[in-house]
Amino acid sequence: MSHDAATELSPLQRKLHKLGLRSSEDLVLHLPIRYEDETRLTPIARLLPGMWAQVEGVVTRCEIGYRPRRQLLAAIADDSGELALRFLNFYPSQQKQLAVGRRIRARGEARGGFFGMEMVHPRTTVADGGPPLPDSLTPVYPTTDGLPQAALRKAIAAALAQADLRDTLPASLRERYGLMEFGAAVRLLHAPPPDASADALRDRAHPAWLRIKFDELLAQQLSLAQARAARLDKRAPPLPAADGPRSLTARLLAALPFRLTAAQRRVGAEIGADLARSHPMQRLLQGDVGSGKTVVAALAAAQAIDNGYQAALMAPTEILAEQHFRKLVDWLEPLGVEVAWLTGSLSPKARREAAARVESGAAQLAVGTQALIQQNVAFARLGLAIVDEQHRFGVGQRLALRGKGGHDDVFPHQLMMTATPIPRTLAMTFFADLDVSVIDELPPGRTPVVTKLLSDTRRDEVVARIHDAVRGGRQAYWVCPLVEESETLELQTAVDTYEALCRSLPGVRVGLAHGRLPTAEKAAVMQAFTAGEIDLLVATTVIEVGVDVPNASLMVIEHAERFGLAQLHQLRGRVGRGAAESVCVLLYQAPLSQVAKARLRTMHQTTDGFEIARRDLELRGPGEFLGVRQSGLALMRFADLDADIEIAERAHEAAAELQAREPAVVAAHLARWMRGREDFLKT
Ligand code: ADP
Ligand code: MG
Repeated sequence: MSHDAATELSPLQRKLHKLGLRSSEDLVLHLPIRYEDETRLTPIARLLPGMWAQVEGVVTRCEIGYRPRRQLLAAIADDSGELALRFLNFYPSQQKQLAVGRRIRARGEARGGFFGMEMVHPRTTVADGGPPLPDSLTPVYPTTDGLPQAALRKAIAAALAQADLRDTLPASLRERYGLMEFGAAVRLLHAPPPDASADALRDRAHPAWLRIKFDELLAQQLSLAQARAARLDKRAPPLPAADGPRSLTARLLAALPFRLTAAQRRVGAEIGADLARSHPMQRLLQGDVGSGKTVVAALAAAQAIDNGYQAALMAPTEILAEQHFRKLVDWLEPLGVEVAWLTGSLSPKARREAAARVESGAAQLAVGTQALIQQNVAFARLGLAIVDEQHRFGVGQRLALRGKGGHDDVFPHQLMMTATPIPRTLAMTFFADLDVSVIDELPPGRTPVVTKLLSDTRRDEVVARIHDAVRGGRQAYWVCPLVEESETLELQTAVDTYEALCRSLPGVRVGLAHGRLPTAEKAAVMQAFTAGEIDLLVATTVIEVGVDVPNASLMVIEHAERFGLAQLHQLRGRVGRGAAESVCVLLYQAPLSQVAKARLRTMHQTTDGFEIARRDLELRGPGEFLGVRQSGLALMRFADLDADIEIAERAHEAAAELQAREPAVVAAHLARWMRGREDFLKT
């Protein structure tokens, strides 16, 4: 046989491949999304509107009607009554099948029609001489165009006979958690007996489903544990905390204009201890907006520099990177540290020069955007890579920065920072290979922000309020509406808003910042606002993260209903940074969708970032939280991260045990569940 003939796929195989089904083992784990009950017949008289049922009867009439349009009208009768069948599109063969006097089965949804009960477009089969009623529920599988359920069912039945269904878990473990046997579970799910609880099957609460979900979560826990073990195998430069008053760390602490909060000291110590180890730190620093993560990052960088290594800080937007840059320069340059600035908007010459300082090791700290990870930037001795707002970067970008310091299997330590709390389920699952430090305390002297919801018909009142605030010596932000469909339109709206506000607020110094402004101009506007030379800053969402002006105590967000919860929370975090009472006005335009209503209500009710993240997850689901690029949600086909937290906890416990004692079980389980997916998890 020629090579070509051997590798050629049949049309059926091609369709199966499209669903990711390449082997019998894949097919076995292609589980139904729902079931249809074709095991029994319902007497026609017992049909109720809305009921999905299968009936059997003799055709009593079959004709083509023309009013109100051409359709096939038939009826069948059993001992109990008569049922009308109606087909709006039909083939001559259907008409032939429904010959008067023939016994047929019809499956579909019953509804009350003009002539009593009817089914529209039922599926019909000939009953006399046809197949007997099946004795299990009929599975309905996820499929793709041109792959009928019947073909999938046949392929899966064949796979069940062929595949290795041996249990990967030891009996003792199954007993402890009351788990069904694997083979029995998959067989049952592909062909449940009629007495299996249809509700439990639908809700995925049946013991067979519980076993599958356990297996899936266990596989995920095991692969994360392996990723972690692999990381512990890698080496990193140990960067112990330098003691003594001459160390950079000590001098930075002494120079800060404030005392660290207890939470900052605690997370600082956690990070400091990790840096001293000889394998790469991979720690997530989580702290609400305004909790003071930057100074913690600066102290970690100082510890790396004390050891003769470089540190890098990457932020997702230029504005945010710049805020960091300015702050770090303020803190560290007076102490003799050279800080390099690297972003995409630099002139080629400036970028080359900055890159050269980084490459020679003259710059001990580099701050910037994605430009930091570009090919032509090489670090002399990168010891610590810090990534701010890490969830906005894809996994790939994060790894690229880490790769910058990788020589001979020695990698830099990595610190990720986020203001978005990770819900417990996700922390246990997708982020299980990270260590997490939490800043759960805000710096003292902050007053909580009061949030008001106002319909935009009351815009004039809001403008008057700004006038009062400015007269009282305060500053304010006006956030322009998000226009998702067009950046140009968004810009235009911002300019219009700016001009309208200038007109209605004579004597108020108004500034405008938006994403299209050249960097230097944007920086100048921000600088003027920070210096108090601008009273009201009209801005697009460029101020979303990073801006830090304690005197600004009023924020207006227009068309607040267009923003997501995380974004609103971030924006609101720009006020309430000083001692003055701060107000955030959410202007909305009615009518509001249910979700928009829920979001605005949440913003009104709480300022707690954790609570907001929890509700956000409820409204959007974990996929959104993770961001498509790094979600890997495809890995979770059966378990539901929110509903199955208890199973996840058991799987977590079992994984630790198996990892320690049963390498063969681990290998077999991963082979079944992670075929071809290991690469993703290595990230
Ligand atoms: P975030 O965690 O949102 O990144 P920042 O690091 O920007 O927060 O800090 C917010 C503000 O609080 C900054 O002005 C910062 O200088 C200030 N800050 C940080 N830590 C303290 C502290 N312990 N006491 C007083 N102010 C602090
Ligand atoms: Mg920050």
